[in-house]
Amino acid sequence: MSGFESVLAGLDTELGWVRDFYTHLHRHPEVSLEEQQTSALVAEKLASFGCEVTHLGGTGVVGVLTNGEGPTVLARADMDALPVTEATGLPYSSEVDGVMHACGHDVHVSTLLGAAKLMADGREAWSGTYIALFQPAEEIGAGSQAMVDDGLVTKVPRPDVALSQHVMPIAAGTLATTAGPVLSAGDSLKITVYGKGAHGSMPHMAVDPVVLASSIVLRLQTVVSRETKPGDFAVVTVGALNAGTKSNIIPDRATLLLNIRTYSNQVRKDVLAAIERIVRGECVTAGSPQEPEFEYYDQFPLTSNDAAVTEKVTDAFTRHFEAGAVLQATPQTASEDFSRIPDAFGVPYTFWLLGGHDPEKYRAAVERGTVSQDIPGNHSPFFAPVLDPTLSLGVQAQVVAAMSYLAKDA
Ligand SMILES: [Zn+2]
Ligand SMILES: [Zn+2]
Repeated sequence: MSGFESVLAGLDTELGWVRDFYTHLHRHPEVSLEEQQTSALVAEKLASFGCEVTHLGGTGVVGVLTNGEGPTVLARADMDALPVTEATGLPYSSEVDGVMHACGHDVHVSTLLGAAKLMADGREAWSGTYIALFQPAEEIGAGSQAMVDDGLVTKVPRPDVALSQHVMPIAAGTLATTAGPVLSAGDSLKITVYGKGAHGSMPHMAVDPVVLASSIVLRLQTVVSRETKPGDFAVVTVGALNAGTKSNIIPDRATLLLNIRTYSNQVRKDVLAAIERIVRGECVTAGSPQEPEFEYYDQFPLTSNDAAVTEKVTDAFTRHFEAGAVLQATPQTASEDFSRIPDAFGVPYTFWLLGGHDPEKYRAAVERGTVSQDIPGNHSPFFAPVLDPTLSLGVQAQVVAAMSYLAKDA
């Protein structure tokens, strides 16, 4: 029996409680920065496996298994739920009004705990250090930074590599990996531009911020179409434009809320610079009496997988899982804050997608070409990963990826 197989030998025994743990979390979701119960349950489990437990960044929890000489692997799960009212009708639906695990972070927590238990029990097959890290507040892009700010790099052993997975509406029983960008960098930006207020009948007394903001919205369309290199990916969305209260009053300011997505740090820098330049330029053109203000918030870093780590983990997946289970991932326009953890240590990482959707329904939707309409995506009130084989595959993927570095016979 190989080291991988001996660690995974206990899988079927552990899946019972992993499943119960998952349904318990799904019934009792907690929103970002309020993951107290989840965090306490995770810490209790980790301690019972024999991990050294550290609390970091509020509700963040880290379990460390030290097992002799060798590499250090960090695996991460996020724990928070969303302010969404569940509509799945599942027997284990959320019991908390207006809160739901609609992004599958309950899958991440329970499968990483399952993997940590198997690693703890299978110590004779590997050597090194295994770190299971549970972070709060991914949905608001704040949790990984909170753990970094609370001393992550001094309180937790430095890993050689970091791993994470996310359940997605692709067929359960499959995993998808890719080197390079897998999730976009995301930035939200509030822009305030100033005019000069006046009576609606006296435009000559005003600097009209409504016209100014309108011309900014149009001009911003050229950032992607005229300034971004064809083939480079960028999204610039003006999600809100607010000014004024009444038809006969010219207001004195307007605010715009923008969302920006990119797959490269350079493109991100260029796009943000272009936005600021256009806004300043339009303000000058309009004769705005005051400098515009830029306020960045809900910022997510780029998730770009290291090529060597991804190759090693993908090879291990391909050897372990049945033919056709390991797919090439297409980059997602969604964003994540995971990469702040490996970036804080300055270490490479890979982040893969875990299939969670009923394979039959998924295949039928693919054939009809209606996946985006028929398969409830993450954050939908209907998001409902199937338990089998999603939980089993999630545990196995975490073990196989870690063992590709830690196994004595790797
Ligand atoms: Zn999410
Ligand atoms: Zn998520």
